[in-house]
Amino acid sequence: MSKPVPGPRPQRAAARERPEKWHRPPMRIESNECISCDACIAACPPSLGAVFRRDGGLVIFPELCSGCGLCTGPTCPVDCIQEDPDWSPTSQDLWPLALGPADPYTDPETRLTLDRVRRW
Ligand code: SF4
Ligand code: SF4
Repeated sequence: MSKPVPGPRPQRAAARERPEKWHRPPMRIESNECISCDACIAACPPSLGAVFRRDGGLVIFPELCSGCGLCTGPTCPVDCIQEDPDWSPTSQDLWPLALGPADPYTDPETRLTLDRVRRW
């Protein structure tokens, strides 16, 4: 029996799998260049919600990143977000960031902060 295709974000986060129908590669942050401005978190649509803060910087979960590109180009002031066709799965110890209390796409207080970032 074939596996179900991961659906909307909560299901994708629970399945920890990237939908096969996403043909664009996910993005990756060059963390040594990142200035932690949070613009990429704010730019990523909440329905995808792929960028997280962690100790030592920001990270994109490839399984949640459709490769839409909204976080790249002029969004990132130092242009340190690139396509990652050879992506590796998100390490298991990071997954609690998604859908947990610090999830920037579900926590209302963080959403307010992100709205301010968007208005820059
Ligand atoms: S490419 Fe799109 S889905 Fe991926 S992190 Fe950037 S804004 Fe989010
Ligand atoms: S937009 Fe660029 S510089 Fe700002 S937090 Fe994201 S990756 Fe870092």
